[in-house]
Amino acid sequence: MQLRFKVPVPMVGWKLQVHLAQALRRWALTRCAWCGGRSVKGDPVNVSHQWDGPRGRWWRGEPGLFHHDCSTVEHAHRMCLCAVPVIAYGRDYGTCLVCGKFRAWRQTFGAAERLLVGLPAGSRIPPGMKAKLDVIYGARRAAKRAAEAKAGEESGE
Ligand SMILES: [Zn+2]
Ligand SMILES: [Zn+2]
Repeated sequence: MQLRFKVPVPMVGWKLQVHLAQALRRWALTRCAWCGGRSVKGDPVNVSHQWDGPRGRWWRGEPGLFHHDCSTVEHAHRMCLCAVPVIAYGRDYGTCLVCGKFRAWRQTFGAAERLLVGLPAGSRIPPGMKAKLDVIYGARRAAKRAAEAKAGEESGE
């Protein structure tokens, strides 16, 4: 008997196949963990909140994936927004004993987070709010750039 496929499939081809299979699975099975919506072109469900979470069974879609904006809303809903958070052991990060939500290290809150937590669970960012958020995030980026430029000047760069 003659072996017809002596040459292995090139790695590039294999990777492309895996990529296509993942894309198909994502399209067919994956729902956003926040709004329950499908992954569509231009609005993919591909934001993971797990750094190295368990992968789901291939026939069930991938768990813990979000639309980009849903990820933002979900994140805001999980944050502790207490004016005075109470965190065990006197730390400045961890689970807040008042609200039971999480406060990240040196996390600060502004108008954007307050808008986002006002949305009901499972809802997406309405277009009107998106425009407001863009303004807030734009101002934040500008402030960050200004701070970085100032730091650069001071260090003599
Ligand atoms: Zn979503
Ligand atoms: Zn709290």
